[in-house]
Amino acid sequence: MPSGDHTAVTAIRGAMLTFTGDPFAQPVRDVRRYESDAIVLMADGRIVDCGPAADVAARVPAGTPVTHYPNALISAGFIDAHVHYPQLPVIGAGGKPLLEWLTAYTFPAEARFGDIDYARPIAARYVAENLRNGITTAAVFGTVHRASVDALFEEAERHDLRIICGKVLMDRHAPAELLDTAERGYDEGKSLIERWHGRGRLSYAITPRFAATSTPEQLELAGTLWRETPGAYLQSHVAENADEVSWIASLYPSHARYLDVYAHHGLLGRRAVYAHGIHLDDADFESLHVSGTALAHCPTSNNFLGSGLFSLHRARSEQRPVRVGLGTDLGGGTSFSMLRTMQAASEVAHLGGHPLSPSRAWWLATRGGAEALDVDDRVGTLAPGYEADVVVLDLASTPLIEFRMRYAADIDDVLAVQFALGDDRAVRATYVAGGLAWDRDATPRM
Ligand SMILES: [Zn+2]
Repeated sequence: MPSGDHTAVTAIRGAMLTFTGDPFAQPVRDVRRYESDAIVLMADGRIVDCGPAADVAARVPAGTPVTHYPNALISAGFIDAHVHYPQLPVIGAGGKPLLEWLTAYTFPAEARFGDIDYARPIAARYVAENLRNGITTAAVFGTVHRASVDALFEEAERHDLRIICGKVLMDRHAPAELLDTAERGYDEGKSLIERWHGRGRLSYAITPRFAATSTPEQLELAGTLWRETPGAYLQSHVAENADEVSWIASLYPSHARYLDVYAHHGLLGRRAVYAHGIHLDDADFESLHVSGTALAHCPTSNNFLGSGLFSLHRARSEQRPVRVGLGTDLGGGTSFSMLRTMQAASEVAHLGGHPLSPSRAWWLATRGGAEALDVDDRVGTLAPGYEADVVVLDLASTPLIEFRMRYAADIDDVLAVQFALGDDRAVRATYVAGGLAWDRDATPRM
């Protein structure tokens, strides 16, 4: 579906929720903006006006139709800080911990992505699912093959979607058909960067899978390529699973801790995003904080693979907050829905003894995720000047939710109910760069 005519003015009306700051650092009432009846005005791909309908209505250009979404909540589009699109064909393949899961399901699935004709329909399905779930920015792993990245960027560009992606770097400990070399990984990354990085809303991420599948030489060249490429990302995994942590210790005996392996090769810093970070200690969080490195918290995946409980409370400590976004981590994760992901994050926080407020969870899925991906000056917030990536949630998407909402006490209760009971059916509409990219009620169900 095309994302619409960006030069036209688009106006939508409904309740609105957004954040102007960090609710982990400031009282939520100071940074949460909720309007029970708002208008959001979009033009040329950006939000040009938003606020109480009573105020904004007078500024809507004459003749502009206003699409009214009753019983809905307008929010900044969701941000998925970590996901593997090539794993869509193995979502839900279960019953194994991380390292066995990689060998049994993931590597065979990824092996086919050298063929762009195989990759394209999966990239198309991935982008379609993002739109159906209100995800408008994502940091995505390809496979080791260049074609995997070409297929995704082609599709993202067609929808004008803000996507960060890179080819996976692996030069050891994987099947031969999934290996590159340090040099080839660098060269292929360089040519993908020349083709895609900074084109429209696309950004390249240098993507070593994790320290076990790259030699020190490959990590070194990954750092070189990252430093050579202004605005590029570095994405990888860290401390997801106890066996993985032991394996890294045996592969890198001269490093006292897992994170030091990445630090040693110059792979920490702003626009570096590491998934999971479950088995980290306070010294690790300190170096993530100091370097500006982000973590992607992937609760459905961590639960599905039995990886462990991420301590959001420790990561977001006021003394040394680490940038954190939420990741679906599909296919290790179990849902494209950020509502389901927020619910899982809430449950994991409960299990860790530090409950997560619904407003903080919402911030993680929007503005917090944007901070983690260093795009918070562009997306993640509903305010004039921001890119017009917007999700409209139907607050009564099932009979039970409709019933329960009659008893909702306040906005936090509303959000908690949507997490607990809602899913992709709740996404009434998704706007990308100001264009209607998903309209649940207008599209025939498949
Ligand atoms: Zn992952």
